Amino acid sequence: MRTNTQHLSARTSADVRNLGILAHVDAGKTTVTERILFLTGATHKRGEVHDGTTVTDFDTQERDRGITIFAAAVSCAWDGHRINLIDTPGHVDFADEVERSLRVLDGAVAVFDAVAGVEPQSESVWRQADRYDVPRIAFINKLDRAGADLDTAVASIRERLHTAPLVVQLPIGREDEFTGVVDLLRMRALVWHAGRDTYEVVPIPEALREQAHRRRHVLEETVAELHAAAMEEYCTASALSTPALAAALRDLTLSGEGVVVLCGSAYRNRGIEPLLEAVVSYLPSPADVPAVRGTLGGTVQERAADPAAPFAGLAFKVNATATGRLTYIRVYSGTITKGETVMDAGTGRTERIGRILRVQADRHAELDRATAGDIVAVVGLKTARAGTTLCSPAAPLVLEPPTVAASVVSMA
Ligand code: GDP
Repeated sequence: MRTNTQHLSARTSADVRNLGILAHVDAGKTTVTERILFLTGATHKRGEVHDGTTVTDFDTQERDRGITIFAAAVSCAWDGHRINLIDTPGHVDFADEVERSLRVLDGAVAVFDAVAGVEPQSESVWRQADRYDVPRIAFINKLDRAGADLDTAVASIRERLHTAPLVVQLPIGREDEFTGVVDLLRMRALVWHAGRDTYEVVPIPEALREQAHRRRHVLEETVAELHAAAMEEYCTASALSTPALAAALRDLTLSGEGVVVLCGSAYRNRGIEPLLEAVVSYLPSPADVPAVRGTLGGTVQERAADPAAPFAGLAFKVNATATGRLTYIRVYSGTITKGETVMDAGTGRTERIGRILRVQADRHAELDRATAGDIVAVVGLKTARAGTTLCSPAAPLVLEPPTVAASVVSMA
């Protein structure tokens, strides 16, 4: 298992993933989040949703109601990458909060229930993510449940979300006997053993070999249809090489023309490691996303994810905690340092950054600085509200809301 808790500071913003988990209530968002935190070593206790000990739901009201009300950003490390997990409320009543979270994400995992498939609320969250151009991969969860069926869930993605499913795994065993997946990209099998969190790589079981080859062929055909360079290779070689397929899957994820589909059972910790591998492989880093735009006095400026540029960030969540008033900030450009003065672009007032914290599940790490692309919590800001732009007083600007895709607006 590749955990890397000692090095929560990624080398560059290319190694950061600002990730959201999107789901219909009950699809398993909390359990998937828990398993990610467990596998990456951010928490060593295995929280269970049903006994109220989960790590991300640290508000009592939230625990009582069993739904995620207050978003929290939690950092963990995976294979040399820092993953900032931004919690997004799954309940439609918190639409403003969902939209603010979507604004600071660079990519997301959409979790579906393998029995229910796409549910009405998953459709609305999916459409909101479309509005913010958030690249997504899909995780079909609860494959261990009676009645779970990957193909039916995949069909519901195609029909109800109007996107091309790019299925990269084939389950091994059904329901209670779900024990692993065939990885159709590398044509190998990953098998979990009872009581072990990590998988063992084995050859594809004989009984599944023919089906695996057929499904790999379907995957290649679908990708070639959607991707010009892949089509070229496919026409000449009548098959796609694994690197060409992987590159095309990433391009299709970033353009939103297709969605990579993985499957598993978060409950039994099956499929979470390959999911993290897919997050790192297919979802963008802050360096891969377009520069944000800001205005002041009618002048439009672009701010790229450059640590040397003037600071601009968005406060997207404010939480009263025992540590103090925590303001969660996405740093879009520049660097903030402890003790520095920043400007609230809405009011023009300046405030001092007291402490900079990296929130890691149930504890905080104190940082001297935070750079472009990162998400941190700041203590000491008294007035900044969720949705406020914070910036360098020497280069003030108000971040523009991202452009909402016109085609999606007309559908709404
Ligand atoms: P959320 O509302 O999306 O955050 O969903 P939760 O993570 O709270 O999960 C809802 C319920 O489904 C809980 O009782 C979980 O224990 C259960 N659950 C989550 N993942 C799985 C899974 O892979 N298999 C099964 N059988 N149950 C699961």
